[in-house]
Amino acid sequence: MSENLYSAIQARLPAPDKTFMETPDGRLYSYGALEERSAQFAQALAALGVEPGDRVAVQVEKSPEAILLYLGCLRAGAAYLPLNTGYTAAEIAYFLADAEPRVAVCPPQAEAEFRKIAAGAGVPRLETLAADGSGSMADKAAAASASFGVVPRARDDLAAILYTSGTTGRSKGAMLTHGNLTSNAQALLETWRFTSQDVLLHALPIFHTHGLFVATNVSLFAGSSMLYLPAFDLAEVLRLLPRASVMMGVPTFYTRLLSAPGLDRELVSHIRLFVSGSAPLSPETHKDFEARTGHAILERYGMTETGMNSSNPYEGARRAGTVGFPLPGVEIRVAEPESGAVLPEGEVGVIEIRGPNVFKGYWRMPEKTAAEFRDDGFFVSGDLGHFDERGYLKLVGRDKDLIISGGFNVYPAEVEAALDALDQVAESAVIGLPHADFGEGVTAVVVPRQAGALCEEAVRDALTQVLAKYKVPKRVLCVDSLPRNAMGKIQKTLLRETYADLYR
Ligand code: AMP
Repeated sequence: MSENLYSAIQARLPAPDKTFMETPDGRLYSYGALEERSAQFAQALAALGVEPGDRVAVQVEKSPEAILLYLGCLRAGAAYLPLNTGYTAAEIAYFLADAEPRVAVCPPQAEAEFRKIAAGAGVPRLETLAADGSGSMADKAAAASASFGVVPRARDDLAAILYTSGTTGRSKGAMLTHGNLTSNAQALLETWRFTSQDVLLHALPIFHTHGLFVATNVSLFAGSSMLYLPAFDLAEVLRLLPRASVMMGVPTFYTRLLSAPGLDRELVSHIRLFVSGSAPLSPETHKDFEARTGHAILERYGMTETGMNSSNPYEGARRAGTVGFPLPGVEIRVAEPESGAVLPEGEVGVIEIRGPNVFKGYWRMPEKTAAEFRDDGFFVSGDLGHFDERGYLKLVGRDKDLIISGGFNVYPAEVEAALDALDQVAESAVIGLPHADFGEGVTAVVVPRQAGALCEEAVRDALTQVLAKYKVPKRVLCVDSLPRNAMGKIQKTLLRETYADLYR
C-alpha cells in the first residue's frame, strides 16, 4: 500500500465543490480544483525530468499555486524543499549546491539572478512562479494532463527537506518523510478536533513547518477551508476573523491583535480555537487575550525536525507559559544534556523526543544526525525544559541560550517572565554576555511600554524582589524593538553580537 501523504489526503477528500482556499481578493480554489491542478503540477514536474526522490527547491512568494506545487511534488514522489523568502543570493547558492534539486522555482522578477545561481550549483531546470499564480511553472502545469495519479511511496521515503534556521553554524536540511507528515497531521487533527466545518485563517508563511505542514496538512486532512492571506495584515485579519473558526499564529500575531481596539468578544464569537507556537507566548499575552476575547490561546510546541510534539489540551486547562502534553504517539522525556540520563520529574534538562513525527536525519550530514540522537532513538531537541506538577511541559530556553553566570545556571525564560510581568515592560529578551568576573553577565534587552519611561535601576530593584540575586540582570538595555525572524522568534544571536563588548 502506498504511504504517500497525498494518498492519505486523497482518501479524505470532501465533495469536489467544497472550497479549499479563498484569498482576500476573492480567488476560490475548490477541492476538485486542488485534485486536478496538483495532478497537473505533478505531470509538469515529471515532464521536467523530476523522478521520485528528486528535490524540487522553491523560493516563492506565498500563493495558492505554491500549495498546489507542494502537493504536485508529493504526488510525483519528489521532495519539496521550500526556502525562506528572506534568503539572500549567497544563502540560496549554498542551499542549491547542498540539496542538488532537479528543478528550482523562483519569482519571475528574480529569474535573471537565480539563473546564474542555479547554473553555478548545477541545477538543470529553473522555472518561475509569481504571487498572483502566474509564471512558467504555472504555465507548464496549465498545459499538462490532469491524469497523473500518485507515485507510491513508503512511510520512510522523503516528502520534504526543510532547512533549519542555522543560528549556530551551517544550516542543516531536515529530511521529513511521508510517515512523519502523515502521522503528525493525524495527531493534530484529533487533538484539535478539526472537522470539515472548520474555516482556518491562514496568515503564516509557507516556507516553514507551521504554515506549510501544521496549518495546511491539518486542513487538508479535515477537508476544511482556509481563508488564505498572503501575510499577516492586521486590518485584513480583523476583517476576516468573523468568518473563521480557527486561527493559527505565532505570538506576534496575538500581540498585534491586542494592539487593535477592535479586538473584542463579538469579533471572535465565531472562533472555536486560537493556536500559538514557534516562539514563546508570554503568560501576559495569554492572560490579556483571554480577558479581551474570552479565549484561552492553545499553545503548542514543535520544531522543523519533529513537526509538532506537544499541545495544551483542547478540553481542560490551557496553562499559560506551558506547551502542554505530548501528542498521541509522541514520547517526550527530560534528560541530563551530557550523559542523557533521564531526570526525575520537575528537574530542568534537555527535552528529548521519539515518535513517528521525528525526522529521518539531516541531509548528507550523517555525523550531525548521529550526534543528535540517543542510542534508543530519542532526538535531542536542544530545548531545555521540565514537566510541572500537573504534567504540563514547560520550556525554559534553548540549550545554547542558557546563561552560566558565576557558576550558576540562569534560564532566560524565567527572567523574561519576571520582566514581562512589570508594568513598564512591553517585551524582553535575556542573554548572557562575556564578563570578566562572572564568565557571563545576565543582560536584559527590553522594549519599554512607553518610550523613555523605563529606569534601569527601578527595573533591577523590582526584579530583586522576585528573583535570586544571581539571576537579576547586571544591565537592562532599552530598545525600540527586538530583532525577530519571520516566525517571530527573537534573534538572540544578533543581540549577543550587538552587545558583545558591554562588559569588556
Ligand atoms: P523551528 O525549527 O524554526 O520551528 O524552531 C523550533 C524551535 O522553536 C523549538 O526548538 C523551540 O525552541 C521554539 N519553539 C517552538 N514552539 C515554541 C513554544 N510554544 N514556546 C517556546 N518556544 C517554542
